[in-house]
Amino acid sequence: MTILISAGHSTRPVRPLHRAERELLTCFASAVDLDRVRIITRYSWLGRLVTRISGGSAVALGYRIFLPGDNSLPTLAHELTHVSQYQRWGWWRYYLSGTWNQVVLRLLLRRDVYHWREETGKPFDQFGMEQQGQIVEDCFNAASPRRIAAATISPFRPI
Ligand SMILES: [Zn+2]
Repeated sequence: MTILISAGHSTRPVRPLHRAERELLTCFASAVDLDRVRIITRYSWLGRLVTRISGGSAVALGYRIFLPGDNSLPTLAHELTHVSQYQRWGWWRYYLSGTWNQVVLRLLLRRDVYHWREETGKPFDQFGMEQQGQIVEDCFNAASPRRIAAATISPFRPI
């Protein structure tokens, strides 16, 4: 099931999280400064460039989340995981890791940077940057066959 979270709300090109989104994503409140998060739905040249590099999927640059149409709760949870990485790691590690994952591993080496599998005793922090995003996304996706496994690893879970 896909939950559209901005239905019935404003669709301004740059906006803070809606109250309904904040309530559904309240588990992120301790790890992410939700007041600083901005959802961007109409792009400048920078937005077009980064979403093109990402293959048209959503992207988080610091506190700015570029959402190209897909505004489902699992996608937003994935991107908020990246915002939490940005807060925890700092900008240099975040952008270095993002470039490594998206440009070197995904584009040049054709690796599936999102693929993850459960390993006994392996904590969330030891998964790759995009694997962490995917684990949280799977945890929020009621249709994902990996939801239960993801919920045992993810530090963020739906209410
Ligand atoms: Zn991601």
